[in-house]
Amino acid sequence: MLSEEENIKNYLGSVIRTIPDFPKPGIQFKDITTLLSDKKALQLTTQALCKPYYESDCDIIVGLESRGFLFGTNMAEVLNASFVPVRKPGKLPSETLSETYELEYGTDSVEIHSDAIKKGDRVIIHDDLIATGGTALAASNLVERLGGVIIGYSFIIELGFLKGREKLNHKTIESVLIM
Ligand code: AMP
Repeated sequence: MLSEEENIKNYLGSVIRTIPDFPKPGIQFKDITTLLSDKKALQLTTQALCKPYYESDCDIIVGLESRGFLFGTNMAEVLNASFVPVRKPGKLPSETLSETYELEYGTDSVEIHSDAIKKGDRVIIHDDLIATGGTALAASNLVERLGGVIIGYSFIIELGFLKGREKLNHKTIESVLIM
């Protein structure tokens, strides 16, 4: 018999839709809009994301644009933390810090408000999905440049075959589903 946790994971896995060849050939896009539109799945996902961190004494959830904003704010509310967005270049209105990272072809950047994190703040980095880990690593560099302490990472989906967790090299990397 499956445990309650396994049943929840199977259910969440069943409401995530995979779209082949989106946004370009060869990518199996994990579409969470179908999870968001299921009210039970919405609650279960927030609970599953927060569960490893109830005792973590976290100050800030850093959510990565854009799907990391959806559950990042829910997590912040449940864990009694605040929420800080990491965004694509040019979106944040006040003074920012920027970090550039390598893509398969070319580079990309992410930004954070320079005053969003104070020295010693305890931070969880959250996104909907970790693929190669490049985006999460760039975000963690921003947090550390501002003096934040990364206590862990949190993802709904981990594409295990891309080994993104090796890039992050942190003892606490929590994924609800490994696909
Ligand atoms: P990476 O930096 O390679 O770990 O890519 C992670 C970011 O790209 C996240 O913000 C994801 O939302 C998005 N992403 C990458 N691959 C996929 C995929 N197969 N399906 C959905 N989103 C993806």
